[in-house]
Amino acid sequence: MSIESMLKAMVHEIRVLGGAEAQIDAYLTDWTMATEDSANSLPCPSCNLIGELKQLNHLDDTDGVSKVRCTYCRKFFRFGNTM
Ligand SMILES: [Zn+2]
Repeated sequence: MSIESMLKAMVHEIRVLGGAEAQIDAYLTDWTMATEDSANSLPCPSCNLIGELKQLNHLDDTDGVSKVRCTYCRKFFRFGNTM
């Protein structure tokens, strides 16, 4: 799983959901805190938009595509692992 492509995908998700730049900044703050603490507790972009800090569960990496799911809203995200 590439952490850089995941972050790109999550920020894109916030934009798609109508998030403002301030909400992206808030997400980036939570993301940085999560990566400094543990790579396994990355924040859900969807929950972040409603002010909730919820964790994404890593499911698997298949054929260069990683899948994660929120433990709270159950939203599913997938993103490619480009080198
Ligand atoms: Zn969520």
